[in-house]
Amino acid sequence: MSFLLNCPICGTREVTDFGFGGEIVVRPESRPGERELNAYNYFRANTDGVQREWWWHRAGCRTWFQAERNTSTNEVLWTAVPEITDATQAPVSPVAEARAAGGEELR
Ligand SMILES: [Zn+2]
Repeated sequence: MSFLLNCPICGTREVTDFGFGGEIVVRPESRPGERELNAYNYFRANTDGVQREWWWHRAGCRTWFQAERNTSTNEVLWTAVPEITDATQAPVSPVAEARAAGGEELR
């Protein structure tokens, strides 16, 4: 398995330059109960398809960034540092749009 990832700072590199930080999980907004806290800490969707993930440029600038990647094909749709991934500045995601249209919650 080898594919390319685009570091927002350094540019495109082999995936072996990067460390995987896991899929993005929404943090509970208020004080969570035990069940909710366990779900936040241990349960992952393990999506077979496109999901948003954390990566860091381990062999380069060491920046943490987010990527949207198809876990089946390893196609990376976009990458961005967290400061520009809020709702108003995030790149347009066809997956997010499709999920919004279908009513499915974005992970
Ligand atoms: Zn970098």
